[in-house]
Amino acid sequence: MDNQAAFPSRSDNLFQTPIAFLKGVGEKRADILKTELQIYTFADLLLYYPFRYEDRSSFHHIGDITEENAAVQLKGIMRNIQLWGEGTKKRLEATLEDDTGIVKLVWFSGANWIKNKLTEGKTYIVYGKPNLYGRNFSISHPDFELFSPEKEKKTSLIPVYHTTEKCKRVGMDSRALVELQKELLRTVHKEIRESLPDSLLSQNQLLDRRNALISIHFPKNEPLLRQARRRLKYEELFFIQLQLLQGRVARIENNAGIIFSKVEKLNLFYKEHLPFDLTNAQKRVLREIYQDLKSGKQMNRLLQGDVGSGKTIVAFICMLMAYDNGAQSCLMAPTEILAEQHYQSLLVFAKKLGIKITLLTGSTKEKTRRVLLEELADGQLDMIVGTHALLEDRVQFKNLGLCIIDEQHRFGVAQRAKLWQKNDQAFPHILVMTATPIPRTLAMTLYGDLDLSLIDELPAGRKPIKTVHRFDAHRLRVFGFLRHQIQEGRQVYIVYPLIEESEKMDLKSLEDGYESVKRAFPDIPIGILHGRMLPKDKDFEMQRFVKGETKIMVATTVIEVGVNVPNASVMIIENAERFGLSQLHQLRGRVGRGGYQSYCILMTSHKLSADGKRRMDTMVRTNNGFEIADEDLKLRGAGNLAGTQQSGAVSLTIADLAQDGEILTTARQNALDILEADPQLTQYQILKQQLEALRKKEPIQWSEIS
Ligand code: ADP
Ligand code: MG
Repeated sequence: MDNQAAFPSRSDNLFQTPIAFLKGVGEKRADILKTELQIYTFADLLLYYPFRYEDRSSFHHIGDITEENAAVQLKGIMRNIQLWGEGTKKRLEATLEDDTGIVKLVWFSGANWIKNKLTEGKTYIVYGKPNLYGRNFSISHPDFELFSPEKEKKTSLIPVYHTTEKCKRVGMDSRALVELQKELLRTVHKEIRESLPDSLLSQNQLLDRRNALISIHFPKNEPLLRQARRRLKYEELFFIQLQLLQGRVARIENNAGIIFSKVEKLNLFYKEHLPFDLTNAQKRVLREIYQDLKSGKQMNRLLQGDVGSGKTIVAFICMLMAYDNGAQSCLMAPTEILAEQHYQSLLVFAKKLGIKITLLTGSTKEKTRRVLLEELADGQLDMIVGTHALLEDRVQFKNLGLCIIDEQHRFGVAQRAKLWQKNDQAFPHILVMTATPIPRTLAMTLYGDLDLSLIDELPAGRKPIKTVHRFDAHRLRVFGFLRHQIQEGRQVYIVYPLIEESEKMDLKSLEDGYESVKRAFPDIPIGILHGRMLPKDKDFEMQRFVKGETKIMVATTVIEVGVNVPNASVMIIENAERFGLSQLHQLRGRVGRGGYQSYCILMTSHKLSADGKRRMDTMVRTNNGFEIADEDLKLRGAGNLAGTQQSGAVSLTIADLAQDGEILTTARQNALDILEADPQLTQYQILKQQLEALRKKEPIQWSEIS
C-alpha cells in the first residue's frame, strides 16, 4: 500500500510537503532520507514506524544485572571519568554507581567529546547492553543523559527506527529520527484526519487515527501501543480488502458471463463413464462452479486442492459444461510434461463421449499446428490442452467460453490476461487451479477478488504417505528399502535439488547421483529427467517411466508439478534441506497417488540448521498442505512465498499476514458487509475519499491478479 495516499484530500497539501521543509532537515539530510529510507514527504515520515521500542519505563538495579539482560536502563552517580590510551586506541571509561552496585561504562570513539559532556558526581540515566568482563559488568557506548526529576516522570517506551550506515554517517541515526518525528507531530498532529467511519471504529473498538499515529511513535504505555498497532494494521488490511472486493463487485456487474445451462453430455458422462465416485469435496466444488456458470455472470474462481485431490476430473467436467453449451474450452499447464499428461487423461474421457480434443505445445509440429489452428478458429475443435503456446496471437478461437489454468503460480499475471481476451464478444469464464496451498490469510490478500473453492478431501482409500527423515549415512539401508519396493512391483523417484550446472560445489550433481544409483542397482532400468533436456527427450524418459519400463526415475524438480504415476510409491529427496516446505510437499505429492502405501524419504547430512530441522520435522509430522503452507509462511514470511513476489500485494507497512489473520478476517468481513449494503459507498464518503486517494497514487491492478 502506498503510504502517502492514505491521507484524505483535505490535508493533502500539508502532508505532501517535501521533507526538506521540516524544521531540522534541510536539503542535505532530505537527500539522504529520500535515497536511503524513501522518505520524500511529511506523510512518508509519519508513516515510517519504529521497528521496536526500548523500555525506559523503569530503572534497573545495577546489583540485579545478569548475563541474560538485554539492554537495561540505570540511574546512578557518574564517577572515575578517565581517558586511557593514545591516538586511535584512546578510550574513555567511567563508572556508574547506585545503591546496589557499580557498573563500568566505556566509549571507544568520540572519547574527548563525551568526556566534556560528563560531570563527576552527578546523577545520570544510562541505557545500554551490559556485558560480563571478568567478574564485572560493563556497558560499551551507552546512551546517557543527566537526570532530572521531570525526566523520570515522562520516560517511557522510546521508539527505535531502522536507519542505514549512510544515514548514521550524517548523524541520521534512530535518535535523530525520534527528534524529527517529534517535530513532525508538533507540526501536523492537528491535521490528522480519521479515515474510517465511526461505525467501524466503535464496532471494532479501534483507536482513532490521530491517537494511533501519535502512539505508534510515542506510546505512553504498552496497552496504548498495542491499540495503536491494531488500529493501523486494521486500516491497512481493510483498505486492501475494500479495493479488492470493490473490484470484484464491479467485475461481476460489468462482465456478462456466457450462460451454461445445458448438461446433456455431462449427464451421459456422469451416468456411464465416471471412473470413480466423486468425493464430496469434488461434488461441492462442482456445484459452486455450476452456480457460477449458469448465473449470467462471468466466473473468476480459484480452485485450491492439495496434490492428489483430483482436480483433473473437475477440470474435465467443467469443460464438458462448456461443450454442452456450444462453447470451446482450453486448459493451460505450465510445462510440456504436464500439458501432455493432462491431455492424455482428458483424451480418455473425451474419446468415450466422442468429443474432439487436442494438444498444443512449443513442440507441436508446424503442419499439425496449422490444421489445429484452423479447426480452432472455425469451431471444429472443442477442447484444447496446451502450454503458454496457447497464448500466441495466432491462436484464435471461434467461441472460447472457459479457460482453465493449472498450477497458477507459474504464470505471470499479464500472460493470463491474454487468455481471456481471446473472445471479443464476452469474457470467457476463468478457473484457476492450484495445488500450492496458500494460507487463508494470503489467499484473501492475493486473490481477494476471486471466489474460492476448496477440495479439502482426498479420494477414499488413499493411504497417507509415510514420511521419514534419514541422514546420508543411512543411504545403504534406504537403498535396501528401495530394492524391496521395486521387487514388489513399485517405482521410485529420486530427486536432486540441482537446478543449474553452476550450483554450489557441495550439491551432489544429478549426474553423480545417477551414476551412483546405477552402481547400486546395476540390474534395474533407470531413467533420468532434468530441465536442460530437449522436450522430446524429456517426454521419452517420462513415458518410459509412466509405462513402467524404468523403475527408478532420477530427476530434478521438473517432476514437481502434476506428474501422475500411481504405481510410484517412493519419493526420495536428496539434500532435502535445500528445499522450501511447499516445494517438499509438492514433491511428496508425486507418490501416494494409487492404492499402495507410499513413502517419502528426506535425505540430509547431519549438519542441519535449526530452520532446516524444523522443515524436516514439519514434513514428517503432517501431510496437510494447508498446515504446511502456514508453517512455511511463518518460517519465510509472506514476501517469499511462491507466487507472491511479483504481485506486490504483500508489501505491507505494518500488518503481517503470518500473524494478523484475525484482524484480516474481520477487516474483510467488514468490507464485505459495507459493500453489500452500499456498493457505491454513498453512505461512506470518508471511504470513497480514501479510495480515491489510493487510486490516484497507485493504479493497483488487483483485478488482474487472477
Ligand atoms: P491433482 O489434484 O493433484 O491434479 P489428480 O486430478 O491428478 O490430482 O488426481 C490424482 C489421482 O486420483 C488420479 O489418479 C485420479 O484419477 C484419482 N482420482 C481423482 N478423483 C478421484 C476420486 N473421486 N476417487 C478415486 N480416485 C480419484
Ligand atoms: Mg494436477
